[in-house]
Amino acid sequence: MAGPELVFAPLGGIGEIGMNLSIYGVGVGARRQWLIVDCGVAFASEDHLPGIDLILPDIRYLIAERHNIVGLVLTHGHEDHMGALIDLWPRLKAPLYATPFTAALFEARRLSEPGAPEIPVNIVPLGARLTLGPFDVEFINVAHSIPESNALAIRTAAGTVLHTGDWKIDPTPLIGAPTDQARLVALGAEGVLALIGDSTNAVRDGRSPSESDVARTLAELVRTAPARVAVTTFASHVGRIRAVADAARAVGREVVVVGRAMERVAQVARETGYLDGVQDFRGVETYGYLPPDKVLALCTGSQGEPRAALARIAEDEHPEITLARGDRVIFSSRTIPGNEKAVARVINGLVAQGVEVITDRDQLVHVSGHPRRAELLDMIGWVRPKILIPAHGEALHLAEHARLARQAGVPNVLVCRNGDLVRLAPLGAEIIDEVPAGRLYRDGALLVNAEAPTVAARRRLGFGGMVSIALALSEKGALAADPEIELIGIPETDAAGRPMADVARDAVEETFETLPKPRRADPDSVAEAVRRAVRSAIAQRWNKKPICHVHVLVV
Ligand SMILES: [Zn+2]
Ligand SMILES: [Zn+2]
Repeated sequence: MAGPELVFAPLGGIGEIGMNLSIYGVGVGARRQWLIVDCGVAFASEDHLPGIDLILPDIRYLIAERHNIVGLVLTHGHEDHMGALIDLWPRLKAPLYATPFTAALFEARRLSEPGAPEIPVNIVPLGARLTLGPFDVEFINVAHSIPESNALAIRTAAGTVLHTGDWKIDPTPLIGAPTDQARLVALGAEGVLALIGDSTNAVRDGRSPSESDVARTLAELVRTAPARVAVTTFASHVGRIRAVADAARAVGREVVVVGRAMERVAQVARETGYLDGVQDFRGVETYGYLPPDKVLALCTGSQGEPRAALARIAEDEHPEITLARGDRVIFSSRTIPGNEKAVARVINGLVAQGVEVITDRDQLVHVSGHPRRAELLDMIGWVRPKILIPAHGEALHLAEHARLARQAGVPNVLVCRNGDLVRLAPLGAEIIDEVPAGRLYRDGALLVNAEAPTVAARRRLGFGGMVSIALALSEKGALAADPEIELIGIPETDAAGRPMADVARDAVEETFETLPKPRRADPDSVAEAVRRAVRSAIAQRWNKKPICHVHVLVV
């Protein structure tokens, strides 16, 4: 039972939150054509990956297949879906498609990055249907935490895939239309082979509250605030920005936008009509002149980012914005796992200034943009896929989404990993191969392979410091001068007060003296023997092993 072959391969976003990049292929072997969906980043945590800001998907497979790529479609403008484009698109140069808000936000992001390349985006209207090679791609509106999130109905000769992107069901979103149930039901009636779907909240029962519920809470908290109010949220959450602006206007407060990312999004949202009817925001310079009960600061920094507005306010280091006892700060956000310490630092800074802090643990000041279990079941019921592959989640989320789908009667549920090549048709879902996949780190101005030893070495350096030793050796194998020893990041003395440099020096000299004569003339053996001896001498006193570098110079 042959037929056209349709395959799917995630190159990121499976088993992790972030770095979303999926590819769909039609055809066989060298004649297979590819459609790329999204190209996002993941954020690195400082403890685990010192010096690394961002994690990007490794696209070496796509670079090799670049002549067979028919297009790259963005579902929406979150960084975990488009944040890798500025770095990676130049290596692919595939035609790029996005709806107006996503395209405008991407352009604004690109312009904010000095030296970023020109990247043309084909702007497609909401609800558009595009033909890209063997793929017929329809954009279907879904509610999410940013304007213009789209599920993609990808029709091919081998069957139709629904790639949900990030979505939730919200009957009363503040911006844009609700999730297009009618289109999804119609698609289900037409027949859906496979659903590749958002698993982020698959462990949570029930349904997520609406953005309108959050707006009501925010309005009440702004109304009852005795003095100044600051609200922080995700910069791209235009619906929330609107809710905050409405809450401020209702009680005669001016909105001051603080932080570049938030200013950028507000600007893009105005240009694309998503803040129509919302009052003009004021510049930060007006903040100090407004009475405390006439101002609301809308700030970046909900994740505790140390350079963002709120962290600087919490440290009392912001040039324009100050808070004091009796002021109220609302975190209209959720702390992304990994950022807990940074957020706690900001909250503690604020509380120490006497500021009242309200988070989503106290009040309904935030809802997720992802579907909970009852919503996932609705989607399955509307679309009735033959195959379901959980995506956009860590292992637990994927497993829970899979279990739910099986309980709901989806005949073929498959959990896969980044780099798996999954055949969807003919003959049902099966992992048939693997394609190269992995991670790249953005390290300063460079992209480095995650498997390269750089970052591991940096972590070891951070943990155990380094000893650098230079030895001058005569041709006969005698020490020609005192060894040069430098310790970096190692305690100066041991518990008995003895300098660690002396410990290292003794280890060098003892090793040298006990080394058999013939080996003393061999620089490599000298270096290796000294390295081992110094590390173990320091480890004996410190219980930690530094990196040790020995340079032997024959003079
Ligand atoms: Zn998203
Ligand atoms: Zn996402």
